[in-house]
Amino acid sequence: MTHILAFAEQRGGALRKVALEAVSTARGLADGQDGEVHALLLGAPGIAAHAESLFEYGADVVLVVEHDGFAQYNAESASAFVADRIASGAYRAAIFAASAMGKDLAPRVAGKLKTALASDVTSLAREGDAYVVTHPTYTGKVIATARLLAKPALISVRPGAIPAIAKPRTGRVEKVAPVGDPAKSRVVVTETSTSDSKKLDLGDAPVIVSGGRGLKASEHFHLVEELADAFGNAAVGATRAVTDEGWRPHSDQIGQTGRVVSPDLYVAVGISGAIQHLAGMRTARTIVAINRDKDAPIFKVADYGIVGDVFEVLPVLTKAIREAKKAQG
Ligand SMILES: Cc1cc2nc3c(=O)[nH]c(=O)nc-3n(C[C@H](O)[C@H](O)[C@H](O)COP(=O)(O)OP(=O)(O)OC[C@H]3O[C@@H](n4cnc5c(N)ncnc54)[C@H](O)[C@@H]3O)c2cc1C
Repeated sequence: MTHILAFAEQRGGALRKVALEAVSTARGLADGQDGEVHALLLGAPGIAAHAESLFEYGADVVLVVEHDGFAQYNAESASAFVADRIASGAYRAAIFAASAMGKDLAPRVAGKLKTALASDVTSLAREGDAYVVTHPTYTGKVIATARLLAKPALISVRPGAIPAIAKPRTGRVEKVAPVGDPAKSRVVVTETSTSDSKKLDLGDAPVIVSGGRGLKASEHFHLVEELADAFGNAAVGATRAVTDEGWRPHSDQIGQTGRVVSPDLYVAVGISGAIQHLAGMRTARTIVAINRDKDAPIFKVADYGIVGDVFEVLPVLTKAIREAKKAQG
């Protein structure tokens, strides 16, 4: 019997979309095999209420650890607990998100277990006794393929790269005691600062509208925000040129030195398509680029291109999206 563990990420008591993606990925690996999907959920008392969502995406078992010490992510106690759980549970693999939290947690767990970790994976499949994963490297210019033979194999998946697909199971919740006392951890989270809790996180948004230097000034970003607003499920991103200028906060930056995203739709507005920007968005499922320069490199990765002035194109596009949404009801 070989189970697959999925780390179910939560922030502030809310389940993150990457948690469902991790469970769904684990389900894909477990199907047809003799083993279960165990979703691991750490949080403050009450976090077990999210178990239903995890069953919906394919968990057979939701392992819940409710403790005030897990209300916020704590690298020391979370990694100790997750490593202990994997070591004690006959797991063939453990799936994490390659999110900020997962990038911190998964290598710590791999170190404790002295096992292999494939990080920031964009696809994975089972091949005999191995897992075959792909991982973009050299700012996305090369796609590396790796065969993972380690047991357990740890894999962190790029947010949005493997969609969460509902596959409901009738599962069971198992409450588990933490290892030691998480409240006594040497790591103390004193403050968490969030940019705007009402804003959709770039990692969770199915649609991202990103603006570049082609917008000319911060006061023109309302055009980008209005297009995002018309979609209704979109977040606003930016290039480094824009964040360096202070037109948008650094938390909005997409790229090699910013966020790496894989939304269903990425709209690049007035963005040249520098390699460092592409590193953060080229795995988006559909890319639309608007640029007045028909030779801009962004068109090489775009599925759809509009050669035109953003100040003329954006109002028309926003109006068209609003009307299409209205017609849909
Ligand atoms: C180590 C390193 C790390 C980096 N990390 C990142 C990163 O993480 N993310 C990132 O984005 N960049 C990063 N960069 C910077 C990157 O190299 C580019 O400089 C940056 O992405 C360019 O941003 P941009 O496309 O907004 O601006 P530009 O390259 O100036 O492009 C502006 C585009 O707008 C078009 N345009 C202008 N006016 C209009 C108009 N009216 N209508 C339509 N189109 C118009 C132009 O044709 C042009 O293509 C990094 C650079 C280095 C060296």
